[in-house]
Amino acid sequence: MRQKNKKPLPILENVSVIDASSDGQSIAKTDEYVIFIKGAVPGDVVDVQITRKKSKYREATAINIKERSAKRVEEVCSHFGVCGGCKWQNMSYEWQLFYKQKQVSDALTRLAKIELPELQKILPSQKIYNYRNKLEFTFSNKRWLTTEQINDKSILFGEAQGETSRNALGFHIPGMFDKILNIEKCHLQEEPSNAIRNEIKKYALENKLPFFDLREQIGLLRNIIIRSTSTGEWMLIVSFHYDDKIEIEKLLNHISEKFPQITSLQYVINTKKNDTISDLEIKLFKGNDSIYENMEGLKFKIGPKSFYQTNSEQAYELYKVTREFAAIKNTDVVYDLYTGTGTIANFVAHQAKKVVGVEYISAAIDDAKINSEINRITNTSFYAGDLKDVLNDTFITENGKPDVIITDPPRVGMHEDVTKKILEIGPKRIVYVSCNPATQARDLQLLDEKYKVIKVQPVDMFPQTHHVENVVLLEKK
Ligand code: SAH
Repeated sequence: MRQKNKKPLPILENVSVIDASSDGQSIAKTDEYVIFIKGAVPGDVVDVQITRKKSKYREATAINIKERSAKRVEEVCSHFGVCGGCKWQNMSYEWQLFYKQKQVSDALTRLAKIELPELQKILPSQKIYNYRNKLEFTFSNKRWLTTEQINDKSILFGEAQGETSRNALGFHIPGMFDKILNIEKCHLQEEPSNAIRNEIKKYALENKLPFFDLREQIGLLRNIIIRSTSTGEWMLIVSFHYDDKIEIEKLLNHISEKFPQITSLQYVINTKKNDTISDLEIKLFKGNDSIYENMEGLKFKIGPKSFYQTNSEQAYELYKVTREFAAIKNTDVVYDLYTGTGTIANFVAHQAKKVVGVEYISAAIDDAKINSEINRITNTSFYAGDLKDVLNDTFITENGKPDVIITDPPRVGMHEDVTKKILEIGPKRIVYVSCNPATQARDLQLLDEKYKVIKVQPVDMFPQTHHVENVVLLEKK
C-alpha cells in the first residue's frame, strides 16, 4: 500500500539513454545510480517519471522524448506499449540483434569470467514478424481500458454492447492477472490467426455468450490456443468453464465452417482456478488430434499439450548449430538432457550410435518416443524424471557413458548437482543450448574446471523481444 505523506517521486529531464537492459528495458546512468527505463530506446534523450526508488537504482517510465534515437523505428502494432509482448518493436531489428549479441557477450565475460573465443555473429531470424506457431488468448469481461475509454462511462459500467462492451479476447496486461488487453491484430502469428480469434469474439458477442470473469470465476468462455505448423496445419483449442453442450457445439461448428484450414479442432472444460490444460482431458471436436511439423523430412507430432519451440524456422537453425557443434560420430553415445519432446535427440539420432533423452514431464517423454516411432528411429531411449535424480551412476552404467552431452535447460539453468555430475562423467564434448545467458554463464564457470569454451553462437528466436538463445560448445581441457 502507498504510504500517506510520501514525497511524490521526481521527474528527471533530459536523460540520455545509453544501453538496453537484459529484461527489455533501457538504461541510463547518473553518478550515483542506474535508471531502468520503460518506453525508451538507447540513443534517446528523454524525460522520465521515476516510478521506484532503490539504493543503487531507479525504475522509470519515459514520458517525453526530447531527442529520438537513430536506432528507433515506427512501431507496427497498434497495441505497442500497452501489450507486454514486443517490447523492442520500437528499435530496428539490426539494433535488436546488436543488443542481443551484447547481452550474451556481457553475461559470458562479466558473469562467467572464463577464457572465451571470439563470439560468432548472432543468427538473425528470417521472419521478424508472424514467426510464432502458438498463441494463447484469454477471454475477460473486464477489458483493460485506456484513459479515454475509462472516461466513457457506458464502457466502464458495462452498459455498452457488442464491440464496445467490456468483453475482451486478448493478452494479459503484464503483472495484472484479471486485466485483458483486447487484441485486434497481433503481428506474431500468420493468418488466419487474427481472423480466427476475431471471428470467435464476434460470434460470442453476437450470441451473448458470457466471457469469463477472472475474479469471480464465472462465465463460459475462458481462452483459446491457436497452433500452426510450417506444413499449413492449424490447431484450435477452446477452453470453456463449464460444459454447455449446445452452445459449445454451435460455436465450434461455426468456426469450423468458417475456417477449413483448422485441421484439428479441440476443446476442454476447465473448472479450475488456473488456465493450464496440461492436467485436463482435451476433447477432439473435429479433424485430427494432432498436427505435424516437418524438419529435414522428419515428422514431429504436436498434440494439444505438446511442447514445441515456438519459432519453428529458427528452431531448425538452432538445431543445425547444435548438431554441427556436437560433431557426433556413429560410435558416439549421446545424452540429450532436458529433451522436452525429444526434438534434438531425434534430429541428431541418425548420426549417433544411440541417443538418450531425459526430461521431467512424462507426457513430453511419451511424445518423444512417438516421434522416434513415426520416424522409424530405433536408437533412442527416453526417460522421465528430474535430472538431478535421474543422472546417477546406475543410469550411466545402464545407458552407457556419453561421449557427447547436449543440454538445453530452462531459464534457471542446470541444477548444481547436474553440472557436477556432468563434470564427473567427463564427456569429450558438451553442447550447451540456453535461453538465459546469465544462468548459462554461471554454469559455464563451474564447467570451466575441466572444459574449455570452443565456440559461442547466439541465435535469435524471438524478434521484437529482448530474449536470446545461445549455443556454446565445450571441449575437455
Ligand atoms: N530441448 C527441447 C526443449 C527444452 S526446454 C527442445 O528443443 O524442444 C527445457 C525442458 O526442460 C522442458 O521441457 C522442461 O520440462 C525440462 N525440465 C525443466 N527442469 C527439469 C528438470 N529439473 N529435470 C528434467 N527436465 C527438466
